[in-house]
Amino acid sequence: MRIPFIGGNWKMNLSLDTAVQFVKEIKDQLPPADKVETAIAASPLFLESMLQNNQDSPLFVTAENCFYKDEGAYTGEVSPKALSQMGIQYVIVGHSERRNYFNETNDIINKKVHAVIRNHMKPIICCDETMGRFENGDHFSWVVNQVTAALHGVDETDAEDIVIAYEPSWAIGTGHSASTEEAEEGCYLIRQTLADIYSDETADKIRILYGGSVTQENIAALMKEPDIDGVLAGKASLNPKEFVKLANYQT
Ligand code: 13P
Repeated sequence: MRIPFIGGNWKMNLSLDTAVQFVKEIKDQLPPADKVETAIAASPLFLESMLQNNQDSPLFVTAENCFYKDEGAYTGEVSPKALSQMGIQYVIVGHSERRNYFNETNDIINKKVHAVIRNHMKPIICCDETMGRFENGDHFSWVVNQVTAALHGVDETDAEDIVIAYEPSWAIGTGHSASTEEAEEGCYLIRQTLADIYSDETADKIRILYGGSVTQENIAALMKEPDIDGVLAGKASLNPKEFVKLANYQT
């Protein structure tokens, strides 16, 4: 069975002090990791301090991005090797903000996926979709193409540990979540794509998340859908009490 995954993506928000306070505050209020995995993706500037204050917590302190080379003359980039050495286990790759504001292509994202796996971490691969594509009905091929490109050359055994997030751009930060049916349709489509690339068995093992204006109000309905194994929340993850509510969506 797939363990539910409740992730927060802070983006470029909060401060070092609030980040540290956050992990301390939620530590004793999260479900055990064998029941529900919880993760917060934060700025690389906060990760070391968060990790230091996260001992004995089920929370996975997570990176929002990394470069695809392990080291070298790449001024300002975040090394996946250094993240792994710090004890980071998950890295978000290909968020729509990276694709749209920083020109990350499917090819770059594929290289980053390989870099994360090479460094013994697990990528959370985001696929986006714009309103226009959704309305035109060709969002299916768009999403299939993103998933296929991101996983190019990834072995079936490595693929089992990957997490994929379906995040329609029009639902991110807008307060307008996809309906449960739309979210399920996107996640189902991704699972079919994984079955085509690998096998039904492997597709059944991979966690697929929905992201885009997830709140404590809509999470329970989303999590009832058969192909939605978790969420990636932006705004709702910035407040520790709200994140704890998301993590305990079952109760
Ligand atoms: P919001 O939850 O703020 O819409 O952000 C979603 C997101 O981008 C998660 O990666």
